[in-house]
Amino acid sequence: MLLNFNTTLVTQYKSQSQAIRVMTEDWVKNEIFCPNCGSVVKDFENNKPVADFYCENCREEYELKSKKNDMGKKIVDGDYGKMIERLNSTNNPSFFFLNYDLRTYKVQNFVVIPKHFFVPEIIEKRKPLSENARRAGWIGCNILLQSIPQSGKIFYIKNGTPENKGDVLKNWQKTLFLRESGNVDLRGWILDVMNCIDKLNKKDFTLDEIYGFENILSEKHPENKHVKDKIRQQLQFLRDKGYLKFLDRGKYKLT
Ligand SMILES: [Zn+2]
Repeated sequence: MLLNFNTTLVTQYKSQSQAIRVMTEDWVKNEIFCPNCGSVVKDFENNKPVADFYCENCREEYELKSKKNDMGKKIVDGDYGKMIERLNSTNNPSFFFLNYDLRTYKVQNFVVIPKHFFVPEIIEKRKPLSENARRAGWIGCNILLQSIPQSGKIFYIKNGTPENKGDVLKNWQKTLFLRESGNVDLRGWILDVMNCIDKLNKKDFTLDEIYGFENILSEKHPENKHVKDKIRQQLQFLRDKGYLKFLDRGKYKLT
């Protein structure tokens, strides 16, 4: 996998943001495979409003965002209202996130965030643009990377080192079950519990350790009076989908 952008493409460009757009799109087209099936990805010839790339083989769609220097904690994205609308629609694309070094034009990190990890909790509303702005009152949004479970951030390249293709494909398959989990509210609960498991930062854990997050989850879901039941339900669901195993009474293991 080549990590450098092709800078010869943009010798005519005066605008840096345009040049970056051209180089990053070209790089993705040449180096990135579809995480769902392993085929090549193609770019949409006519500018589609949301997606930038698609897979001819399986029809998955992807939107590309890039950021210079460090990955940071959030990805700046477009219109807040449209984003929230997108979360409930079936044609919401997955996200390619490319992080590059501006001095060397080299890719540092490349991540795919599957569309089924998009729930309202990971979208932050920005302040409306001031009255003096050209688009006064317009509200944009940020995608909060730290609110996405680890399994929802699938790395192709991490700190300048490419990951194995087989691992990328396997990591993608591992959470596809979330697509069957219906509306964003239900999915929100599952993702919450997945985040709690991440916070424990170990493969083996107990039910009591997850119950330790009861207060945090109660605050997040004040309408729910049976948080422990809800936690157990999500753990069962995650077990049924092969995301984790039940070992013994109240003991679990991530697969
Ligand atoms: Zn595909």
